[in-house]
Amino acid sequence: MRVPDEVLEEIKSRISIVDVVAQHVSLKRTGKNWKGLCPFHSEKTPSFVVSEDRNAYHCFGCGCGGSAFNFLMEAEGLTFLEAVKVLAAKAGIVLEFSGEGKDASARSEQSQLRALLDLASRYYRHQLTNGRAGAEAREYLSRRNVPDDAAENFNLGYAPGGWDALTRYLKKKGADLSLSAKAGLIVEKTSGKGFYDRLRNRLVFPISDSNGRVVSFGGRSLDGSEPKYLNGPESPVFIKSEVLYGLHQAIPDLRTSRRALFVEGYLDVLRLHSSGFRTALASLGTALTAAHLRILRRRADEVVLIYDGDDAGKKAAFRSLDLFLAEGFPCRCVILPENHDPDSFIDSGGDLASLISSAESLFEACLEDAVIRFDATRPEGKLAGAEFMIKKLSSVSDPLAFDVYAKRVGEVFNLSEKAVRGRMRGGRDRRKENGPNASLAKNDDPLDRAVLECLLYAPAERARFIEGNLQEHMRSGRVRGLIDFVARRVEPAATFPIDAAPDDFRDLLSELLIEDRRASPPFDILEAKLKLRSLKERASNLTGDIRAAEESGDMDKVSILLREKTQIDKEKSKLENAVNQRISH
Ligand SMILES: [Zn+2]
Repeated sequence: MRVPDEVLEEIKSRISIVDVVAQHVSLKRTGKNWKGLCPFHSEKTPSFVVSEDRNAYHCFGCGCGGSAFNFLMEAEGLTFLEAVKVLAAKAGIVLEFSGEGKDASARSEQSQLRALLDLASRYYRHQLTNGRAGAEAREYLSRRNVPDDAAENFNLGYAPGGWDALTRYLKKKGADLSLSAKAGLIVEKTSGKGFYDRLRNRLVFPISDSNGRVVSFGGRSLDGSEPKYLNGPESPVFIKSEVLYGLHQAIPDLRTSRRALFVEGYLDVLRLHSSGFRTALASLGTALTAAHLRILRRRADEVVLIYDGDDAGKKAAFRSLDLFLAEGFPCRCVILPENHDPDSFIDSGGDLASLISSAESLFEACLEDAVIRFDATRPEGKLAGAEFMIKKLSSVSDPLAFDVYAKRVGEVFNLSEKAVRGRMRGGRDRRKENGPNASLAKNDDPLDRAVLECLLYAPAERARFIEGNLQEHMRSGRVRGLIDFVARRVEPAATFPIDAAPDDFRDLLSELLIEDRRASPPFDILEAKLKLRSLKERASNLTGDIRAAEESGDMDKVSILLREKTQIDKEKSKLENAVNQRISH
């Protein structure tokens, strides 16, 4: 069920977010805001700010933020709806809920899907713990050293063999079968006549979102049938690239350790949790994505990757370096000894804790590997290795980090820093400085951020942003995501509906609403700067292409490219003049 935005705003207007937070955090007034020690990460000097005017909180240490509802969800482990109910009661507002079951059409599809997933989860669990057929699965778990409490904590289950055990159960419970198929529980027969179970004779791993709600299932085959792991399809409640297996169970420990351990599979997660490494997570058969890192950012300060000691493990770890560099997220990596996975390593008495605490940065590990793999003792190897690393640096957006990395690549391959920089064609303007209150903001492009801030505080300009199609000139992922939302709303900053914002962007929104604002340049200057930046980038790419065409002797191409370049240079100087004139006025 979805509570309308107006009702949410009404609730918030009748209660004080300061009162809500003060139940958990001791707050002191500073100017127009309130400040305290963040309850979501450990800190000694307060960076947790609550604003009564903005009806929002934000921690400038760990970057989390949101409305009073979000605070209650995080602090008390409630779902959004539960938090709404608590505060509605406080505000004296009666929520009108449509009756369950009876008025099914009125309930949103999402909540129906969740109810079906929940039903299936309880069914699978019962089969594992009580069913006769579950014996094989129980045996498998004990063979893999998964203790009962871990199986319970992760709500493991068993899907019986045969074709329609779950289908029959759902039917008996009066469940909507096409909706059950949409949830990925059952599959429609190609004949169109009836359904069969998706998971058959498999150990079942419920996959939940960060609030612990089941969104899908993964199943491991127990009889050698392929594939070994079968995941449910995406659905309105399950977006694979945005879910991390084990996150819900890891949240309490992440609060204190702020370090997420990333492993490869479901069983690795379970094994680590039951061995005391309770911040272990895994993605669902995909590589880590930017969305994963955004979800982790509010809960962790670093990620430690733990990969098997084979070539595939190494490759997978190094592949994710680009992503960590682009997101500016600290990452270290543990490559286990050859022929070991986390399970066998712990079994053999290996000291995983010390491997984790002494793990080197992913960048450094990748660099050292490149030296060996490309054989940097040969000139060709040196060139190829350096080239490989420089390419990775192209995703670094923080100028300071870029400097440090570029220097290190130069050192290791014995090249001058200038040569390394020279290779970075089409690179960004690295001379830009970060603003004073950079914290997490340092990962956002400063110009992108200025545009977003301007739109948030100047609603009249939002339409111009959309009509001018300026989104395509934006660089930073999270700014780009939020600006799309902001530009389409009409509310001024003072009453901006923080609860309507997509989950991933709420932290940034609360930050912008609460931070001390410096006067931002007018929109038309920012617009010109955005366009100018794109033009500069194209010009610099063209220069490279022209050089390449010259070297290959393709003079026709050279003249075409030169013409294009002249055109761009013209546009560029026109914009530059416009900007300069506006600034000098
Ligand atoms: Zn914090």
